[in-house]
Amino acid sequence: MINSERLWDRLMQLSTIGTCEAGGITRLSFTPEERAAKDLIAGFMKEAGLTVREDEVGNLIGRKEGKNSEAPIVLIGSHIDSVPSGGNFDGPLGVLAGVEVLQTMNEQGVETEHPIEVLAFTDEEGTRFGFGMIGSRGIAGLLQPDELTPQDKDGISIAEAMKQSGLDPEKIKGAARTPGSVKAYVELHIEQGKVLESRGLSVGVVSGVAGPLWLKFVLEGEAGHAGATPMNMRRDPLTAAAEVMLCIEREAARKPVSVGTVGKMQVFPGGVNIIPGRVEFTLDLRDVDKAILDEVEQSIMREAEAICARRNVRLTVELLQRIPPVICSDNIQAAIREACAAEGLETMTLPSGAGHDCMQLVDLCPVGMIFARSRDGISHNPAEFTSKEDCANGAQILYRTALSLANQR
Ligand SMILES: [Zn+2]
Repeated sequence: MINSERLWDRLMQLSTIGTCEAGGITRLSFTPEERAAKDLIAGFMKEAGLTVREDEVGNLIGRKEGKNSEAPIVLIGSHIDSVPSGGNFDGPLGVLAGVEVLQTMNEQGVETEHPIEVLAFTDEEGTRFGFGMIGSRGIAGLLQPDELTPQDKDGISIAEAMKQSGLDPEKIKGAARTPGSVKAYVELHIEQGKVLESRGLSVGVVSGVAGPLWLKFVLEGEAGHAGATPMNMRRDPLTAAAEVMLCIEREAARKPVSVGTVGKMQVFPGGVNIIPGRVEFTLDLRDVDKAILDEVEQSIMREAEAICARRNVRLTVELLQRIPPVICSDNIQAAIREACAAEGLETMTLPSGAGHDCMQLVDLCPVGMIFARSRDGISHNPAEFTSKEDCANGAQILYRTALSLANQR
């Protein structure tokens, strides 16, 4: 059984690093706050009896040796960087629960066939440079030295920030794990949504991580006088856009997991008495299943074209970003379910709408995630909260899952 008091106490200690005036935590990558957080956690890792090191991209790693030190490693962990005025649990729960899991094993003399490493990944959030998941990209071998050019608001690039932290950007390839050297990656994370809470469940099994597809729709009609143009002589791109948005809502709602959001719109020229000539809006479309995502995208596109043709409005669609969704490994999902059954915890399977480090690791090893209940679904906010009991349950499920994977042939 993991030590829930110790886990909670460490979460509270970590939450004192990076507190900001606006409330909550601001702990950006390669800053003194992040350094202090890593130093604190490195201390916990040593107390846990782990071998501690930092790799070439700044990932903090604590290792518990396996009976076979050459066997592929089971990785557990999360991140400790935050968004501005973020919460205490998004990231830290997975890292500190990982340390707790390995400390419990060491205290109870539990040995595993495979080594287990707990990681605090560098820069998951992408807040400082607009380029996230730096640590997991590094481990997956997906990070190139010439990609370290994005700058923060003060004009400092990732490469410069790395140098200031004592890292050599030319050596980042050294962080890459070789194919076959990693057995699995499992992360405990807060849900950041309301699904578990609405079902009265403490923990959930993640089925996959939705990949965001971002599109920009541009609709062009004919601007005109609102008083002098009869209704049947208009080519109004805004009413066409309204129809397209309703179609997006309808098509996404037809699938159990798909979500579609129009979050940004501009109307040109934008006057009370002017029929718009041009409308631009964005679409964020997500699903954990690529085939379903493609199907929803295609039906939206078909309908949008039909709507615009009928209304004599010109439609162009620009691709802003397409990140493929990730399916969590069946084997890891089964291990998490068995862990829940062994603890007598009722659970459910749910997708993650938010992105996580496992998206970068999916070609390196099988990945899986455990969700812990978030209060009111609030995250990226000082009010973010997961109860002591839910943190402990999540950590206990992580313990059993990691133990089972690390002994699996
Ligand atoms: Zn997170």
